Amino acid sequence: MSKVNEAEVRAEVRDWLAANWDPDMPLVEWRGKLADSGWGMPQWPKEWYGRGLPAGLARTVEEEFANVGAVGVARSGVRLLAAATLLEHGTDAQKKKYLRRILTGEDTWCQFFSEPGSGSDLAGATTRADLQGDFWVVNGQKVWTTSAHHADHGLLLARTDWDAPKHEGMSFFVIDVKQPGVDVQQLRQMNGHASFNQVFFTDAKVPVENLVGKIGDGWKVATTTLMHERRGADGLLPPSKKGTRVGRIHAEERVENEKANEPYKWYPQRAGRVDLILERAKETGAGKDPVVRQEIAKLMILAKSAEWTARRARAAQRQGRPQGPEGSLGKLAASHVARACARVHTMMTGTDALLTGEDSPRNGVIAEILVSVPAVSIAGGTDEIQRNIIAERVLQMPKEPRFDTGPFRNVRRN
Ligand SMILES: Cc1cc2nc3c(=O)[nH]c(=O)nc-3n(C[C@H](O)[C@H](O)[C@H](O)COP(=O)(O)OP(=O)(O)OC[C@H]3O[C@@H](n4cnc5c(N)ncnc54)[C@H](O)[C@@H]3O)c2cc1C
Repeated sequence: MSKVNEAEVRAEVRDWLAANWDPDMPLVEWRGKLADSGWGMPQWPKEWYGRGLPAGLARTVEEEFANVGAVGVARSGVRLLAAATLLEHGTDAQKKKYLRRILTGEDTWCQFFSEPGSGSDLAGATTRADLQGDFWVVNGQKVWTTSAHHADHGLLLARTDWDAPKHEGMSFFVIDVKQPGVDVQQLRQMNGHASFNQVFFTDAKVPVENLVGKIGDGWKVATTTLMHERRGADGLLPPSKKGTRVGRIHAEERVENEKANEPYKWYPQRAGRVDLILERAKETGAGKDPVVRQEIAKLMILAKSAEWTARRARAAQRQGRPQGPEGSLGKLAASHVARACARVHTMMTGTDALLTGEDSPRNGVIAEILVSVPAVSIAGGTDEIQRNIIAERVLQMPKEPRFDTGPFRNVRRN
């Protein structure tokens, strides 16, 4: 990235913001301007709402937005995973229909991958899509579908050929969630939140033009979505700190964030809240106990090294270098850190860590950590699956023996 380029981009975006940014504009109208000018997603291709800039320069643009407090395009939830998948595999008609409304925040998305009998073994999905005239007719069940209860569209992985080997018999679709054949039922978790759903499809319809990629390409397309998910591109960010800004756009963005972030309110707790560890050590006096102090030190070392590994991965990404082993190690490291946090919080808080409610430690946050941390080792691929990936793809160790080859119809399942 040359210095001249960076200075030019900085000057150009600054001028554009000076001419266009108006905090009293309706949010969707402003984001429409961002999409059409390419400044909302400058790293996207020029023909699709971007400016074709390298990821490093996209950060420069973000800095200029932050300097004037300008709101960006919609990023929360699964929408950016949907966008990344469509940019790579979608038809021009699909990109035209969906990408702009993703950026303006008009549509929300969810991911229909996991099923009761296929989570780690995602390629064993048995939800089926059968071609009948101009529609694919979908029957089956998905589960764990975060945000399906307020999504407009879903990324659907379904079996379209039962005689092909399991990875080759699936196709990928965009499905309209708000249709009569889609029954979304919220599930309550042990931490009291209800962020994901079980979803039943009974003769739900998908128009033929909503097939993403070719028939039988479902696994390849889903791999793109998962790659972006593991890189953390799903926009599950901590709540915005811009709570006090004035203007119609900020007010509308706050309402949007509240709804979009509802399913993710407990996500900081599921990461273990390493940020609270030192405060709690002082607050409880547990830092004076040499055994607890030792555990705190071990945790902070683990957390720092995981953070630096993640930063290395992000730096490589910004410079356009291919994802190294950092990507696979990052998710596993996050599980270790979260579990170690839960242990240290418990050591410091004692039995009070089980209490919830206003008069409990940190308003119940410590208890919520304990019942939320297990999710990190499951969501987006379990720890064991990450270890398999590291062993087989990073370290090139021999693969597990397979018993699921040949026509899927004959593969033993459940
Ligand atoms: C908070 C959260 C949000 C989620 N959101 C979504 C979503 O929006 N959309 C979606 O589609 N899914 C979502 N998921 C589902 C998630 O992707 C699956 O839960 C995950 O892939 C594990 O699948 P499973 O639950 O079926 O467990 P299983 O696959 O049944 O695994 C059970 C146990 O067996 C182990 N195991 C399985 N296979 C192997 C193997 N080959 N080698 C060694 N051990 C193995 C696993 O590690 C695990 O310990 C979400 C999950 C969580 C926790």
